[in-house]
Amino acid sequence: MKDKEMKDLIKKARNFAKPFRVTDDNFRLKDIDPGDTLDLTSEDKPRAKEALAMGIDVLAELQDMLYAQDNWAVLLIFQAMDAAGKDGAIKHVMSGVNPQGCQVFSFKAPTSEDLDHDYLWRCMKCLPERGRIGIFNRSYYEETLVVRVHPEFLEKQKLPPELVTKDIWKERFQDIRRFERYLTRNGVAVRKFFLHVSNKEQKKRFLERIEEPEKNWKFSANDAKERGHWDDYMGAYEEMIQNTATKEAPWYVVPADNKWFTRVVVAAAVIEALDALDLRYPKVGKEKLKELAAAKQLLLGGKE
Ligand code: ATP
Ligand code: MG
Repeated sequence: MKDKEMKDLIKKARNFAKPFRVTDDNFRLKDIDPGDTLDLTSEDKPRAKEALAMGIDVLAELQDMLYAQDNWAVLLIFQAMDAAGKDGAIKHVMSGVNPQGCQVFSFKAPTSEDLDHDYLWRCMKCLPERGRIGIFNRSYYEETLVVRVHPEFLEKQKLPPELVTKDIWKERFQDIRRFERYLTRNGVAVRKFFLHVSNKEQKKRFLERIEEPEKNWKFSANDAKERGHWDDYMGAYEEMIQNTATKEAPWYVVPADNKWFTRVVVAAAVIEALDALDLRYPKVGKEKLKELAAAKQLLLGGKE
């Protein structure tokens, strides 16, 4: 891709992602409409798909530089209610990147070994290496979501009782903010995504999972039961975002009722994140240039 074309696409991506980026506590969930598609209609869907394809090409180039430069790592965290499209967004947006430079980890209910440690332990083990993009499909943020909505999960964590006070959520927000600052200061850029699906759209997607045989495997009765806690979850999400959105590690609250739109926003935000790192291919020194020239001589002078 030509330099100028790439620069234009990066600029477009930045503008596209901007309305969904949250960097401070000035945030209300009700201001984001899960059905929002900016000024695009479903007729623009083919154009959006084209934009996504171009975005994926840009992403592949940026990732190549990230890998070559080998200084920064990028951690992308995905959180959402069930059926919001996390898996599909990850699959599509990362479809063009070199698998060697990318790692995906899914965090489910903690095992007994996990519960024997502090809650960041299992996530720390999965942090991306320099030069890599790491994806967390769910994360330590569940500690302020599902664990908050279901106090019985907190009980299972075997924490010293005197540490479990009414301040525990505030303390977790503070620890997470500091942890992410620590990561940033160590060359791990953190970006967080909340795919915001509406209650109505989730119901529709669950019904599809029941009615279409090839989607049956995705359905879990427990997911449908969790809908009973919808308002608690939305409250927990809002407070979590207000308390952990920072300039260095922003949240993107992405409308998720239209999958084609969600994917373009996520791709744009990942491009924005990589672009902010000022990536470039490493320049080789004089010694290396000499070595290259000698190797060229050898190759050209050699037998066919
Ligand atoms: P899918 O899209 O395939 O359903 P998923 O991410 O929902 O993917 P599941 O196996 O269905 O995967 O669910 C994982 C479950 O683990 C979620 O309900 C989540 O809330 C729960 N979970 C994740 N982290 C924790 C945690 N720290 N404590 C308790 N439950 C957790
Ligand atoms: Mg699930």
